[in-house]
Amino acid sequence: MSDRYDSLKRRLSGDLAAAAGAYLVPVFTRLYREPRPGDAEAQALVGNLCVGAELQLKAFLASANPALIFKDMPPEARAFLLAPDETPASFNWRPFALDLRDFAYDTVSLEDAVKAFYVFFPEFRQALRPYFKLAVELRKPALHGSLGPVRKDELDRTVYLALSLVQVVASRRKECAAFVPGDQDRRFAAAFEAACARQVKERVTAARQKASTLKVDIAFNAAGPPEGWETLDTRCPICKNWAVLGGTTDIHCEEKAGVEHESLEFRADSFTCDACGLLLEDVGELKLADLPVAYDRSEDLERWRDETR
Ligand SMILES: [Zn+2]
Repeated sequence: MSDRYDSLKRRLSGDLAAAAGAYLVPVFTRLYREPRPGDAEAQALVGNLCVGAELQLKAFLASANPALIFKDMPPEARAFLLAPDETPASFNWRPFALDLRDFAYDTVSLEDAVKAFYVFFPEFRQALRPYFKLAVELRKPALHGSLGPVRKDELDRTVYLALSLVQVVASRRKECAAFVPGDQDRRFAAAFEAACARQVKERVTAARQKASTLKVDIAFNAAGPPEGWETLDTRCPICKNWAVLGGTTDIHCEEKAGVEHESLEFRADSFTCDACGLLLEDVGELKLADLPVAYDRSEDLERWRDETR
């Protein structure tokens, strides 16, 4: 049954990629050609970007295996999708294929689709995590309520996420991409990154000024509450007070001379200092402010095992 499975997989992935393009292309066309939108229109654009990004994720996941995007499938559909080579030709696959093609079964949430995406693209986790986090926050109010005033950086960051995602998918499997990114898209990404660099410089200058006015020397203040696996205390590079990094902690296994070596690493992707006000919102901004983006936490390995497994 693998030929049936392959054709169903291509169909689902292609349909999802086309739907992603139908949401995303008009948004890019609108933003590249016309002036900045007002709040109500900006909400609609953010909503379309979040939906388009979600469909782009699912187009890629479906191309790996459609079972990755459906939840609560009947066991027969799951067996067919997970073991097509073992499914005999006599199996009546049509009703299940029709239901899958019609998306009769619920699909996974955006959050779960993002987690599955990181399995296939671990190298983009640190760079894209703050952007996906923002999209998860904005998606529900954008589609089912009101975002109120949409900040320019929220719209730009959502555009950057959708564009980055399409570029990442196009680089691995072009037929699953919502569209083929062109010169205009590359110009937008370059302008966004240049604007981020300018803003980081301004924020560092403002933080330096505030640090020089701090009356109490709190450089030896205590670290904050106990660290979780998504935060890490660090000294602020500007005012030297304790500040907080956001990010993820994960185990790394490496074989050296036949011996397996395990280490625990924290990968930072945001930074907040309450004392001088320095705020950095992604790994690129951390690098621009000369903050390390990877930290060894191997001394916490046993606690990590206890708490996460
Ligand atoms: Zn500071």
